Amino acid sequence: MATDTTAPADPAPEPPEAVEAAPASPVPSAPGSDDPKHPQPAVDVPDLRLLLDGKYAEVRDLVRTNLAEYASILEEQETLDREAFRERVKEVVLEMAATGQTGMGFPQEYGGGGDVGASFAAFETLAFGDLSVLVKVGVQFGLFGGAILQLGTQRHHDAYLEDLVTGKLMGCFAMTETGHGSNVQALGTIATYDAEAREFVITTTGPEANKDYIGNAAVHAEVAVVFAQLEVGGQGHGVHAFVVPIRRGGDAAPGVRIEDDGLKMGLNGVDNGKLWFDGVRVPREALLNRFADVSEDGTYTSDIENPGRRFFTMLGTLVQGRVCVGGGGINASKVALAIAVRYGLKRRQFEATSETEEELLLDYGQHQRRLFPLLAATYALHFAQEVVAGQCHQAFSGEVSDDADGHKFRRELESRAAGTKALGTWHATRTIQECREACGGAGYLAVNRFTALKADTDVFTTFEGDNTVLLQLVAKGLLTDYSTEFEEMDQLGMVRFVAGLAVETVVERTSVHKLFERVRDLLPGGDQWDQEAGVLDSDYQLAMLRFREEHILGGVARRLKRGIDSGMNPGEVFSRVQDHVIHAARAHTERLVLEAFVDKVRAMPDGDNKVVLGLLCDLHALSLIEADRAWFMEHGRLTVVRSKEISRRIGSLCRRVRPVARELVDAFGVPEEMLRSPELIG
Ligand SMILES: Cc1cc2nc3c(=O)[nH]c(=O)nc-3n(C[C@H](O)[C@H](O)[C@H](O)COP(=O)(O)OP(=O)(O)OC[C@H]3O[C@@H](n4cnc5c(N)ncnc54)[C@H](O)[C@@H]3O)c2cc1C
Repeated sequence: MATDTTAPADPAPEPPEAVEAAPASPVPSAPGSDDPKHPQPAVDVPDLRLLLDGKYAEVRDLVRTNLAEYASILEEQETLDREAFRERVKEVVLEMAATGQTGMGFPQEYGGGGDVGASFAAFETLAFGDLSVLVKVGVQFGLFGGAILQLGTQRHHDAYLEDLVTGKLMGCFAMTETGHGSNVQALGTIATYDAEAREFVITTTGPEANKDYIGNAAVHAEVAVVFAQLEVGGQGHGVHAFVVPIRRGGDAAPGVRIEDDGLKMGLNGVDNGKLWFDGVRVPREALLNRFADVSEDGTYTSDIENPGRRFFTMLGTLVQGRVCVGGGGINASKVALAIAVRYGLKRRQFEATSETEEELLLDYGQHQRRLFPLLAATYALHFAQEVVAGQCHQAFSGEVSDDADGHKFRRELESRAAGTKALGTWHATRTIQECREACGGAGYLAVNRFTALKADTDVFTTFEGDNTVLLQLVAKGLLTDYSTEFEEMDQLGMVRFVAGLAVETVVERTSVHKLFERVRDLLPGGDQWDQEAGVLDSDYQLAMLRFREEHILGGVARRLKRGIDSGMNPGEVFSRVQDHVIHAARAHTERLVLEAFVDKVRAMPDGDNKVVLGLLCDLHALSLIEADRAWFMEHGRLTVVRSKEISRRIGSLCRRVRPVARELVDAFGVPEEMLRSPELIG
C-alpha cells in the first residue's frame, strides 16, 4: 500500500548480506528450537494469564464463571427460533446483571460498581461467549445507560439509573437514522420546544429521518434516548438527546411507530428496529441537559458556545462504547485462535517428515505463518486495548484535569479509541476467517463456533463508528495536533485549517531531515540507522514505524496544501487524498499498538514468559514491516537484502512459537465451555 508521493532521502546503499547485530533493546528475543545453544523457554500459563487479566483478574473470572453457567446459549442460538432466542438472550442478560457483572461502570449509589475500568474488563471477557448477549449488554448498559449517565444530570440519574442497572427498565440508544449513520450531525429528527406546554415535540421529518438499526428497539425497550436537532423559538441548536418513552404495556406509545429490522447477518438475539415519531410530546426535563438546557420560558443556555464543539464534547463522553467494541473484537479473535491452534495440534494430514505418521497441521510452516502472526497481533492488540481502557478509566474517574492538558488528553484518548477499535475489529474479521480455514471443513460446522463468530463480529467494523470513518478522525487529530479549533470545524473548515496554518507545523515536524534527527536519537548508527540495527531490536522496529507514520503524515499535509494552493475545492482535495489519510491513521495506530506491546514486555520481570512475549513482539513488529515493505522500499528504508532477512526471521520466529503455541492460547483463559467442540480440539 504505497501512497506517499514525496521523494525519500538518498536511498540507502545495499548492505552486504545482513549479519544481525545483537539486540540493543531490553526486550529479549527468545532462543528457540533452531538455536541449539539456547533451551526452548517454557510458558508459565497461570502467570501469563494473570498478566493478561491484569488489574481486573477477579472481574474477568466472575464473567468466565457466568459464561460457563449459561453455556447452553451457544447451542440455543442454533436451535431456537428468532423470537425465542431474543427472549433467551434477554433472560441471560438480566441474570448476568443480577451478579453485578454488567453494572460495574455505574455509580455505587445506583447499584453499580463505581469502576469504569472494571466495566471494560467485564465486557471484553463476555466476548468469549455468545455475541448477541454481548451486544445486548452493550446496548442496554453501555449505550442506553451510558447516555443517561454521561449526558444526563442528577434528575435523570435518580429517575433511571437504578432500574436500568438491574435491567428492570430496558432502553435503547436511538441515534442512527436510515439517512444518516456516520454523519450524525445531519440527523433529520427534530425536537421543537413548546414553551407554553413546557414540552419538547419529537418529529421524524422525512422518509429517511426514521431511526434505524436501533438495538433493543424492536421488542424490549420501553424508553429511548433519542438524538434530535433541537429547535427553540425557531432557532436551531444542533443535535441533543432526549429520553422518550416508546412503549406502554408492550405496545408502541402514542405517536411512536416501531418496525423490526428483520433477519440480520448475525446477532439475531438482539432486536434491532426502526422508530418514527409523529409529534411525540415529552416534558422539558426529558432533555439530557449536562451540556445544554432550555429554561421554562424557552431560553437556551450552554457553557459550550460553539455548536460543533458542543456536539464533539457530547460524543466524547460516549467513547466508552467504542473502547468496548474494540476489546470485544480482540477477545473474539482469541476464541478463534484457541480453537484453530488446538485443532492444528490434533489434526494430521500427509506424511511429510515421517513415513509412518502424518504431520500435525501446526508443524507445517505455512500453518504457522498464517496463524502465529495473528496470534502475535492479538497479544499486541490486547496490550494496546489495556492502554486505551486504562486511559478511559482515568478520564472518567476524575483523574484528568479540566485545563488545556486535560483537553488534549481527552482528544488523544478519543483518537486512540477510534484507532484501536478500527484495527481491533478488522483484526477480528481477518483472524476469524483465517482460523476457520485453518480448521478445514470442520471449521464450517456451526457446532465449532466459527459460523456465529464470523456472522456476529462482522458488524463490529461498522457500528460504534464505521472503521474507515474512524480512521479519518484519527488522521484529522494528527494533522491538527488535537487542537480545540478542530472540534469547531466542519470538514471543509478542517481542510482549510490543515492546508493553511497546520500544514507548516506538520511539514516542519515531519520533514525528512527532522525525522532522521529524531530517529538518530533513538538508535545508534547515524544516517545508517536502518542498516546498522538488528531487525530484532525493538528500537529499530519502533523507529521504522515512527518514520513511516510521520513521513506519510507529512505527505498528506503537503498534498492538502498543494491542492488548496491550486484553487481546488477543499472537499475535493480531501477526497483525493483520502487513501493517504487512511494510511497515515493506520500507520499511527499500528505504531501505538506496537509501542504498547514493547512497553509491556520491557516492564516484565526476567524469565521465560518475558522471553516468549519478546519473541511474539518481534514477530508482530516484523510482520507489520513485511506487510508494508513496498512502502519502506519505495522510501529507501528497506533494502532488498534486509527485506528478505525480515521474511526469513518471521519464519524462524514462527518455528520458535510453535512449541509454546498451545500455552499461548491457553493463557487467554477462554472457558472450555466456550470452545464447545471437544472432538475438534481434543
Ligand atoms: C447490527 C447493528 C446494530 C446497530 N445498533 C445501533 C444502535 O443501537 N443505535 C444506533 O444509533 N445505531 C446503531 N447502529 C447503526 C450504526 O452505528 C451505523 O450503521 C454506522 O454508524 C454506519 O452508518 P451507516 O450505516 O449509515 O453507514 P454510512 O455512513 O452510510 O457508510 C457506508 C459506507 O460509506 C463509507 N463512508 C461514509 N462516509 C464516508 C466518508 N466521509 N469518506 C469515505 N467513506 C465514507 C463508510 O466507510 C461505509 O463503508 C447499528 C447498526 C447495525 C448494523
